[in-house]
Amino acid sequence: MPDPRQGAAAAVANIIAAIDQLDERERQRLYVQLLASRGPPPTSTRPGQAATVLPNAATILPSPVSNATSPATRVRTYLAESGVSGKDTAPDFTGIAASIRKLITIAVYDPTGLAGTELRRGVQRLVETALNGLDATPSLAKRGIVFELQWVNRDLRAQERTRFGPMQCPVYLADDDKSGSNIIKIIDEHRYPKLVPYMKFDIRQHARDEWGGGLRGTAVPPGLGRAYNRMIFLKKSIFTEGDRMGNKTLITNALLHEFGHVCNITTHATDGTAMATRLTTQRMIGDVLPYRPGDRDKIVREVERLWMLQKSLSS
Ligand SMILES: [Zn+2]
Repeated sequence: MPDPRQGAAAAVANIIAAIDQLDERERQRLYVQLLASRGPPPTSTRPGQAATVLPNAATILPSPVSNATSPATRVRTYLAESGVSGKDTAPDFTGIAASIRKLITIAVYDPTGLAGTELRRGVQRLVETALNGLDATPSLAKRGIVFELQWVNRDLRAQERTRFGPMQCPVYLADDDKSGSNIIKIIDEHRYPKLVPYMKFDIRQHARDEWGGGLRGTAVPPGLGRAYNRMIFLKKSIFTEGDRMGNKTLITNALLHEFGHVCNITTHATDGTAMATRLTTQRMIGDVLPYRPGDRDKIVREVERLWMLQKSLSS
């Protein structure tokens, strides 16, 4: 008797192939429909392993792994907790689509489960707290713009990499390959251009130098003007640095550092803050490092720019 799972796999492959034919707007509409119709994501089935998220080729915006609330609910909760209210500042939540577009999504692709459930939740909480709290004004929260970190239990196919919008940032976990060819391949698959306006250096050479130069990670910024795909690369070795099972503070600090770079911060701090480089393991596991005020402002301005860009793309 044929294995019924084979039929199901073929059906899913057909659905994904059909979704591949849709344009950006149609995929977004489909995603909104799916999101509106589904319940909370499945819970963990294996100890140490987060719930498996079904491939979501519709949008490459996968389900959050660790919570039972929708992005829209989380936006509302965050705004309620941050005290943002009132006629002038209340964001428009008439549709789920509106709130989806206001999420800055950092998605960590972890197909082999390098991070266990506890570590994932810890990093998610620390990163979201740091980024959602960095805007003192808070002009981002007033507009309903919220940062979200997701862990995804799968890898992306090459053609999926080209579908990231301005407000999405993939994070890839990669081996410490001295040549850097493993990460250059991904940059190429994102169709990142050879030359980016206003960027004074060759981003591929820069990524190669950093990856082979003993750093914990590297980042590809989107440049100014039109936003090209931004992306972060972290070395798999940081998942055992400082703690055999991974240290949430160290991984958070590594992520926040690279996130600063993908927001077009091109210099390093010398005062031991988030944008400082080559910090010791001891320093990285101590506390979540704050950004310098100037770096914080750059991130806020970049996110505001991306929001305007996103709005112009979707209107
Ligand atoms: Zn750096």
